[in-house]
Amino acid sequence: GVKVRKLNGVSRACGEYVTGPNNVRILQWNILSQALGQMNDNFSKCPDEALEWNHRRYLIIEELVEYCPDIICLQEVDHFNFLSHILETQGYTGLFFPKPDSPCIYIDGNNGPDGCAIFYRKDKFDLVNVETKILEIWKVQSNQVAILSILKMKETGQEICVTTTHLKAKNGALLSTLRNEQGKDLLQFVRAHSRGLPLIIAGDFNAEPVEPIYNTILDNALGLGSAYADCDTNFSLKSADREPTYTTWKIRGEGEVCHTIDYVFYSKNQLELEGVLELPTGEEIGENRVPSMAYPSDHFSLVCDFKIGNS
Ligand code: NDP
Ligand code: CA
Repeated sequence: GVKVRKLNGVSRACGEYVTGPNNVRILQWNILSQALGQMNDNFSKCPDEALEWNHRRYLIIEELVEYCPDIICLQEVDHFNFLSHILETQGYTGLFFPKPDSPCIYIDGNNGPDGCAIFYRKDKFDLVNVETKILEIWKVQSNQVAILSILKMKETGQEICVTTTHLKAKNGALLSTLRNEQGKDLLQFVRAHSRGLPLIIAGDFNAEPVEPIYNTILDNALGLGSAYADCDTNFSLKSADREPTYTTWKIRGEGEVCHTIDYVFYSKNQLELEGVLELPTGEEIGENRVPSMAYPSDHFSLVCDFKIGNS
C-alpha cells in the first residue's frame, strides 16, 4: 500500500512544515513493541518479514520524521536507545519510562521492557521538569505507567505540560473499570504537577469512547477536549461520537479489530486546535490491515497542530 495522509486537507511532504513560536505539533503513536508484535500478537494476515525489526525500524523512523512534530509521544517502546540515537541526529532528545513488569521481558530474544517515551525538539524547548508514575488502581500500583514533562518554549518562555500513557489492555467490564481507575490516577498525577499550564495528554488508552474513562477525562475540571473529536475539518472517518472510526485496525487469530482507543486530549481554554492528520482510509490500509509491509504498527499515528493562547 501507498501511504497518503493529509493534514488540514493538504498533503505535506517531509520538511515542509515550519513551526511558529506559538505553535506546537504533537505526534501520538503506539509503535507496537518489537517483542510483542513478533512473538505475542498473532497478527494472522501479516507476513513475517513485515514484523522483522530490520524492516520495521526504518518505517517507524520515517513516520516520526515525516511530519516534523515538535513533540512525540510513544507507547510500546522496547527500542528506546535505537530511536533516541537516530532522533538525536534529527534534533530531538527523549525521555523513557519502562513498565515495571513488561510482558516483553518474558519473550525470547527480547530487547528489554517496553514503556512510554516522549521526544521533543531541542531547538524549540528546554526541559523544565519530568515526573514519572506507575499508575495506581485503588491505591495499588498497576503495570501501566505515565511520563509527564514540562517543556518551556525557548522563543517565548511559554511552558506546556505534556503527558503520555498506555493503559491496561483487553476487553471486559472489569478491565474497563480498571482503566477508569488508572485514568483517575492519571488525572490526579497531572493536576499535581502541571501548575495550571496548557495540557496535552496523549496515549493509547485501550478504551473506546463509550468506556467510562473517556468521560472521566472530558468531564474533569482540567477542561480537556479530545483533539480528533473537536477538529472540524470535513474528514470522512468520523462516527457519532465525533472520534475517528478507528485508530487501530488489525486481524488476529480471534478475528478483526477496528476501533478508536488512542487519543490526544488538550486544554480547551489554553490551546487552540488548528488541525489534525487524517487517518488512512481502509483502501489505503489494505484488506490485510496492519501491521503490514507498509505500516509498521497495528496503531496509526495521530498528529495535531495546536496554537497556544485562547481560542
Ligand atoms: P496488558 O493487558 O496491558 O497487555 C500488555 C500488552 O499486550 C499490551 O502492549 C497490549 O497491546 C498487548 N496485547 C493486548 N491484547 C493482546 C492480544 N490479544 N494478543 C497479544 N498482545 C496483546 O498487560 P500488562 O502490562 O498488565 O501485563 C500483564 C500481562 O503480561 C499478562 O497478561 C501476561 O500475559 C504478561 N506477563 C507474563 C508474564 C510471564 O510470562 N511470566 C509475567 C508478567 C506478565 P495494546 O495495548 O496495543 O492492546
Ligand atoms: Ca499492542
